[in-house]
Amino acid sequence: EGEGEAEIDYVFKVVVVGDSAVGKTQLLARFTRDEFALDSKSTIGVEFQARTLTLHRKRVKAQIWDTAGQERYRAVTSAYYRGALGAMVVYDVTRRATFEHVPRWVEELRAHADGSTVVALIGNKADMPAARREVAADEAARLAEEQGLFFSEASALTGDNVERAFLTLLEEVFAVVS
Ligand code: GDP
Repeated sequence: EGEGEAEIDYVFKVVVVGDSAVGKTQLLARFTRDEFALDSKSTIGVEFQARTLTLHRKRVKAQIWDTAGQERYRAVTSAYYRGALGAMVVYDVTRRATFEHVPRWVEELRAHADGSTVVALIGNKADMPAARREVAADEAARLAEEQGLFFSEASALTGDNVERAFLTLLEEVFAVVS
């Protein structure tokens, strides 16, 4: 299976945003390497991870960008968003505040990214026990509908729905650019 640059038909930049510690880095590791790193901050300073896949017989290189901790200082720069065709806004289903901040992240995306950027809302850590849950799936689905976003819960830890969420987003991006 060739991965050479010459065979790439499209490069899709996808940015992952959301509050600190919602699992952005782990979602990216799960999708690009099928890994869940216990030393979660080993990727600090790494700008993006790539995975090449075939969509509708085209070779698509998905470049998934990680904030690498910038969000802690509210310093996600416009360079981060520039050229992003897709975006994932991630919250943690066990921390309500991370969900309450979703509209802020969506606004920031809309302000910095292109108007046609496809946005997905992801409720991560769906593997956590029900008693720890602070955000119901149907509430998040409602918010997503209002904001015109694709929504899915997922777990970077178990891998549940991670592949499907990224593929759905990439398919939507493909539909926009092709
Ligand atoms: P980031 O700051 O948004 O990049 O978050 P990280 O990817 O570094 O994850 C923050 C913490 O949440 C780490 O301790 C991870 O091990 C943990 N974590 C990430 N994803 C999941 C998940 O799906 N389930 C559970 N239970 N923990 C997770």
